[in-house]
This record gives sequence, structure tokens and C-alpha cells, in this order.
Amino acid sequence: MYVIVSHDVDHLTAFEHRTDLILPKFFARNLIETLNGTISFGEMMSRTGEVFRNRWQHLEEVMDFDRQQGIPSTFFFGVNNGKMLAYSLENAAYWIKRIHENGFETGVHGIGYSTPDAVKKEFETFQQILPGVPFGIRMHYLRHDENTLKFMDAAGYRFDSSIREHKAPYKVGKLWEFPLHIMDGDMINQGKRYGSKSFEEIREFTRREIAAVVDKNVRYLTILFHDRYFHSSFSVWKAWYEWVISYCKENGFVFQSYSSAITELNSVNGH
Ligand SMILES: [Zn+2]
Repeated sequence: MYVIVSHDVDHLTAFEHRTDLILPKFFARNLIETLNGTISFGEMMSRTGEVFRNRWQHLEEVMDFDRQQGIPSTFFFGVNNGKMLAYSLENAAYWIKRIHENGFETGVHGIGYSTPDAVKKEFETFQQILPGVPFGIRMHYLRHDENTLKFMDAAGYRFDSSIREHKAPYKVGKLWEFPLHIMDGDMINQGKRYGSKSFEEIREFTRREIAAVVDKNVRYLTILFHDRYFHSSFSVWKAWYEWVISYCKENGFVFQSYSSAITELNSVNGH
């Protein structure tokens, strides 16, 4: 079994959310998780501190961890705003280049999905940041309709990884779809808006989900972890990511990037 790890970058700073409802919702969620005993008072205070430090990404820390673990992960960045993705193109471009220079792959965290022009525009914007480097996409909130994959293919994306289903990679035109299997929030919150599960319950749920995917013979297991949670103020989230990586290793799974997987899939397909 191969594993492809990716990170969606939904935030860079806290202040980029000054005009939306993210911050009040964030404080409410932290309060509820403290009152229901999911997180400690100290953790709640530490999350609050992160807001005032105005740092809502842990990209360097995730790169350090992934490098140490030998994980060729991919980082998806928004190059457009919408659905509460609010950081500037300038900030996105800085990090896209920095992550690329560090030897990791980057791609688009897509906003527009319902017209060919909207999909193409984000493709072109990203291409200008890293000219000559092929890339793929994951939609923010996994939004798509029946035409989105066709629009992505026409725009020039090499792959997408937005469709949540227990399937092996498949082709739509020249685009490879890598269905998304294991997402941090699905495992940790398990259908609720707030955390309420113990770490053991979360691990058990994740083991079952991975087993269900392995049973379907998909060959490429995909895992999504949001970099923002790689911090002691989200101790369960961070511990979950570290654990799921070691769990994959214990099971003899081999880490790949989307692009190395595509090279292999294309050679098998005789292209
Ligand atoms: Zn997102």
C-alpha cells in the first residue's frame, strides 16, 4: 500500500479574518471543547494566544516533521478568496515559493468550481507563481459539481484530490483523480462540530477507516492533515497526525507524492 500525505492551508494569519465570522466561531468552539472536557483550560488559553500572535499556520513545523519522517507531502494554497479562505495572494506566493524551495510539492486549494473560467483563472494565477512546475488541486471544503473535474482537466491540472470516496485513482481526460480517504477533522470530530472523542476512540475510528480503504484495494491511500493544527494548542490533532504516520509505517505502507504516483500510474497504463 502506498500513502500520499497532503496539507490544506486554510489560514496564514488570524487577522485576515477580521471581516468574517471565523474568530467568534473559533472562540465559541474553544469554549465548548473546554467545558465538555475535550481540551484543558491551558490549551484554550494557548489557542487564544495564537490569535493574538496572529500566526495561524505551522508550515515550517510540518515541513520539519515531514522531512524527518521522509514524507514527500503536498501543500495546497488558495490563490483566490472565498468560503472564509481570506489570505492575500502575496502571502500565498511567499509560502508557495518557500515550500517549493524546501523540496515539497505545492498545488492549488481551489475556490471557484462551477465554471470553466473560474477554474482556469486559479490555475493561471498559480502557474505565474511557479512557472514550469506541474501541479494539481484540492478544492477548499471539497466543493465540486458534476463538471468540476472536467474543468480542471481542461485548465491543465495534473490531478485532483477532492472527491471523498473509497476508490482507487482514476482518470478524467488527462487528469488523475486521487479520491480523498482520511481527513483529520473527519477522524477527530466524527461528524460533530466540536471535538468530544477520546484519543483512543479517534485512533480506533481511524484504524477502521484505513482498513475499509485497504479492503477496497485502492493501492494509494490519501491522508489530509491541516498544518494549522500542528501545534501544542491542538494537542489531539497534532498527536493524531504523528500517530497516523507511525501507524502507516508500522503497517509497511510506503509514502509517495502525487507526482511520483502519477508517473507510476501512467507507466502502468502504458502512456
Ligand atoms: Zn480548505
